[in-house]
Amino acid sequence: MTTLSNLAEIRARIAAAEKSAGRPAGSVKLVAVTKTFGPEAVEPVIGAGQRIFGENRVQEAEGKYPALKEKHPGIELHLIGSLQSNKAEEAVALFDAIHSVDRPKIAGALAKEIQKQGRAPRLLIQVNTGAEPQKAGVLPEATDAFVAACRSEYGLNVTGLMCIPPAEENPAPHFALLEKIARRNGLTELSMGMSSDFESAISFGATYVRVGSAIFGVR
Ligand SMILES: *Cc1c(COP(=O)(O)O)cnc(C)c1O
Repeated sequence: MTTLSNLAEIRARIAAAEKSAGRPAGSVKLVAVTKTFGPEAVEPVIGAGQRIFGENRVQEAEGKYPALKEKHPGIELHLIGSLQSNKAEEAVALFDAIHSVDRPKIAGALAKEIQKQGRAPRLLIQVNTGAEPQKAGVLPEATDAFVAACRSEYGLNVTGLMCIPPAEENPAPHFALLEKIARRNGLTELSMGMSSDFESAISFGATYVRVGSAIFGVR
């Protein structure tokens, strides 16, 4: 299978999952995750009409996307990996959305840069739904307070939540939990679902699915 036939298949599967969940066509946006792949792998996917791309490291994205964005002004770049506060300046300058806001220090650093640069990426909070010690994200029980602090203390316009369920578990309860926390906080964007589980995520309300290997192949 080539990248472009993979992309076509993922689009068809997203459309089918929207339909079987009773959701409007186009309500789920595909984030094509390009980490470890070079611009030569990304170009044909842009040519096929894909507009939203995801990277998990600021430094890797900085080596790849300024040129791609200049050449293709319509594309959007999303940061899906964790952010260090000393990279907030670069992240605000380069990314159109950040899915991994997860602690006060990052919220503060982003607020400062957004003010300074006059550029505001869309912001999602990462929730560690499985409470895994090695994983980034706010704990579920701390999320309401963190959302409130982002809004009132840092003046951030948070629009959604993101999660990465534990690898060895059924992801469905994690997707359901994320949706519940988002709803009670008035957040409309849900970034959940990857190559192996995006259809399940769509059935629980995902608005962004982040798909890498099912499009670009193994890393
Ligand atoms: C790499 C990555 C993905 C994509 O994973 P695949 O299994 O390759 O689809 C999604 N989300 C995050 C946070 C990632 O780092």
